Amino acid sequence: MKEYDFVVIGSGIAGLAFALKAARHGSVAVITKRKGADTNTAWAQGGIACVTSDEDSFELHVRDTLEAGAGLCDEAVVRAVVTEGPERISELAEIGLQFDKREVSGHRELDLGKEGGHSKRRVLHVRDATGKEIEETLLRELGRQSNVKLLENHMAVDLITAAKLGFATEDRCLGVYVLDEKTGEVETIRSDRTALATGGCGKVYLYTTNPDIATGDGVAMAWRAGVEIANMEFIQFHPTCLFHAEAKSFLISEAVRGEGGILRNHRGKNFIKRYDARGSLAPRDIVARAIDAEIKRSGAKCVFLDITHKPPEFIRKRFPHIYQTCLRFGIDMLKQAIPVVPAAHYQCGGIKTDMNGATSLLGLYAVGEVACIGMHGANRLASNSLLEGLVMAHRAAAAAVHRRPGGIQKVALPEWQSGNVQDVDELVVIYHNWDEIRRLMWDYVGIVRTDKRLQRASARLRNLQREIREFYWNFKVSVDLLELRNLAAVAALIVDSALCRKESRGLHYTLDYSQTDDRQFKHDTVLSRW
Ligand SMILES: Cc1cc2nc3c(=O)[nH]c(=O)nc-3n(C[C@H](O)[C@H](O)[C@H](O)COP(=O)(O)OP(=O)(O)OC[C@H]3O[C@@H](n4cnc5c(N)ncnc54)[C@H](O)[C@@H]3O)c2cc1C
Repeated sequence: MKEYDFVVIGSGIAGLAFALKAARHGSVAVITKRKGADTNTAWAQGGIACVTSDEDSFELHVRDTLEAGAGLCDEAVVRAVVTEGPERISELAEIGLQFDKREVSGHRELDLGKEGGHSKRRVLHVRDATGKEIEETLLRELGRQSNVKLLENHMAVDLITAAKLGFATEDRCLGVYVLDEKTGEVETIRSDRTALATGGCGKVYLYTTNPDIATGDGVAMAWRAGVEIANMEFIQFHPTCLFHAEAKSFLISEAVRGEGGILRNHRGKNFIKRYDARGSLAPRDIVARAIDAEIKRSGAKCVFLDITHKPPEFIRKRFPHIYQTCLRFGIDMLKQAIPVVPAAHYQCGGIKTDMNGATSLLGLYAVGEVACIGMHGANRLASNSLLEGLVMAHRAAAAAVHRRPGGIQKVALPEWQSGNVQDVDELVVIYHNWDEIRRLMWDYVGIVRTDKRLQRASARLRNLQREIREFYWNFKVSVDLLELRNLAAVAALIVDSALCRKESRGLHYTLDYSQTDDRQFKHDTVLSRW
């Protein structure tokens, strides 16, 4: 058994920022299931929203965030994240991150991008590869810390809790079981302060902008440990994912619309104005629903994002990554509109925490996309998630340093019991179930929902979960099997949460209750296993 003062699960912006702060106070293990940089963070393009200009104000950023959140944001949380943002951004600059600047009247100032729902230009970026630069900067800094161990290709399987071990004390997190992918063995890692920073669950849907790691592991592990989960019905669909048979999950950043890109239907018409007066720069949920409706109405396979009216040198300089990637698929965005469709993008709900990232389980923290702190409410404002991850990692690490749970942490933890240690005999079952979950979530629990479709999804998911449970107990665990088990659990949580909300609000839109009902539903959907 290994032991650390802090265990961090996940190596995106939230996990790495937490680990760097915690490392000043003790030993840290960062557990990550692929390579360090295999994260959603590394895929972020648009940038990080933060008030840095004299023309902007904290008040405006708070107002824009609350407006997008459709009545469910926690204003105190939004205020904390927005106002603490500039200090955290300076810390990124101190460790070497250089955001893009531009020349204004003889001096250089930050080149701020504008995105949907923001009333001002406030998005700091590094070209269109902001997340990659942030990830590399944080990983480089982590490599300089002598008391941090980065365990790559290690997948957290489940949390070890006092209740699971049968202690009759207040429940708490005592550590985590971790699968070492190279050896196939499950190790026991003890820590009385564990931070889940496992990101989102985009892979639960057939079409997603997320990389393969986004299988909802953190929410599923927390759920199994009896931790409260909130607002899982609010899944953000990004309106503009590249539509191409060979392109797997490639996002066309919101910044393209921010810089003047226009959405057109297959007839070349700027159709969004028919759905919302703000046109292509309306908030994401409205644009995604408008595209979904337009595609269904016209029978076309996709719509088109057109920025050909901008100077070629501007496009090449501002969007080098998008430009090159589209070219690889035979699309020249300087001359032609880019074919796009909506795809699952961001999980607004997650593990419920307080303002310092503490969950309902003592010793367990959740930060970043996996957490639901009340920042995004029913809909996330573009480029607010990197900011939230950065600020909340700092707050959670500070809380964890000062609140060490006492008592039973020194008891021996049992080793992992492998049970019947055969390898899975029919991998086809895993892949089939995986595909089935993703397709049924897309068809029944997508951008537009109904109770009937949700109930159908719920019934099917219960059967799948029974099958998967059998597999889990009868065969040796593998990354594929564990991810499938987590996907199924998270899918069921999304469906159950959606069934609880008998209204439409933010990202949750149902034909059965198409209006917002503040009187009954202006509150979080909180699910708990106990
Ligand atoms: C294409 C794309 C573009 C985006 N653009 C922007 C943008 O411009 N601005 C913005 O603010 N947001 C953007 N987002 C959202 C943002 O990138 C994410 O919300 C944010 O990076 C999440 O950070 P995180 O640290 O919480 O999780 P991630 O960065 O996703 O990291 C999760 C980590 O957990 C690990 N992990 C997961 N499960 C396990 C397990 N069981 N065991 C061990 N390790 C595990 C993963 O391997 C990974 O290391 C974008 C997202 C995508 C997909």
